[in-house]
Amino acid sequence: NVQLSKTGLKMSELTGVRSIMKDIKETNETDKPRDYVNVSAGNPLVLPEVEALWRKYAHELLDGQEFGEIIGRYGSSQGYEPFIDAIVHWFNAEYGWNLTKHNVLVTPGSQSLYFMAANAFSGPDEAGNQRSLVLPLCPDYTGYGGVVLSKDVLKTYKPTLDIKARHRFKYRPDIEKLTIDKSVGAVLFSRPCNPSGNLMTEQEVDRIVAMCAEQDVPVIIDSAYAPPFPDMVFTDMTPVWGENVIHCVSLSKVGLPGERIGVAIASEKYIQLLEAFQSNMNIHSSRFGQALAARAIMSGELAEVSTNVIKTFYHKRFLIWESALDRLMPDDVPWHLHVGEGSIFAWMWFKDLPISDAELYVELKQEGMIVVPGSTFFSGLNEPWSHIKECIRISLTASEEELERGVAILAKVIARVYQRA
Ligand code: PLP
Repeated sequence: NVQLSKTGLKMSELTGVRSIMKDIKETNETDKPRDYVNVSAGNPLVLPEVEALWRKYAHELLDGQEFGEIIGRYGSSQGYEPFIDAIVHWFNAEYGWNLTKHNVLVTPGSQSLYFMAANAFSGPDEAGNQRSLVLPLCPDYTGYGGVVLSKDVLKTYKPTLDIKARHRFKYRPDIEKLTIDKSVGAVLFSRPCNPSGNLMTEQEVDRIVAMCAEQDVPVIIDSAYAPPFPDMVFTDMTPVWGENVIHCVSLSKVGLPGERIGVAIASEKYIQLLEAFQSNMNIHSSRFGQALAARAIMSGELAEVSTNVIKTFYHKRFLIWESALDRLMPDDVPWHLHVGEGSIFAWMWFKDLPISDAELYVELKQEGMIVVPGSTFFSGLNEPWSHIKECIRISLTASEEELERGVAILAKVIARVYQRA
């Protein structure tokens, strides 16, 4: 038995989706011959055009003079300079943000950025007061459950539901209820949102940012699916900037999840603090992927491939899922699809579902379909709410044929579940 600290215990928990992934892996290993429709994956697909882009720049880099310097030397904790310059250049040109290189920090994936920011701003302060990490809307990224060192740091707000049409809905942050005071360390949300595909509106974000600015609270905006890259947004979206915004980019959804590249764009005071944290934790992020990305950004190809290949690909998959639902799902059952505004997921809500989402997961699995039960995406919500157990997440990385088959299985199981009740 290993003697663990409180932090050790918290960090060794199999949180959120990791426990489901374990079950899915075991199912696939023990049940090999079965041809499951697997719509549980969180991994983006390797799209040929995107891989070709990285391959081209990898060749260039291997043959170039800087190769030895890039992999053979330690660099600055802030990140690889040409990559920082590329980020500054691209965001200034695209959004007029007036950034300098002092506004950028590169981290080993954006998950580590959330971990550092969460623990720099929230948790117990020197006076012993607890400062919370506020999630203004749920469901949201399950990985946020793991970035705080103690569970009670997360404070998650219940959203309001906007019923858009007979079988469509959208989550909205309940800003009237949101309290931003001295007890709040930071605010965090994903835009577009994993798992729901929701895009918090610009007005909603502006209001939250303004409320936080009054209290000097940073707003961490997880832009893992946002423009300019990967640009997995199916409607208009402009990133929101402000003195208290920490705009977080990830290169995982543009084909580099294995290279682990996250970027924080923020006021210098936040960047300096996070850079020191990073220096203590991992010195700096790996430089090879940054060098590839610097080239792909400056040539314009990264933004181009994002908009013309990646966005188009996932939008099409969403529309296939949506139209199959309208054709195949029982109309008299209160099923709802979240409006698809971005990300690589579709999110389903079954109002008054007679069984739990975990039981639905098992029934679907028995019929040959693997989804992710929705309750893993409500970390930090402490009020009872039946909605939490009425949702599932669908990955749009499944093939078009699998998505069609998946809807047929879902329609059959859902009709049976409601009839039985
Ligand atoms: N944020 C969101 C919303 C995500 O969906 C993911 C990964 O799926 C991450 C962060 C973590 O990404 P990274 O690979 O940059 O650590």
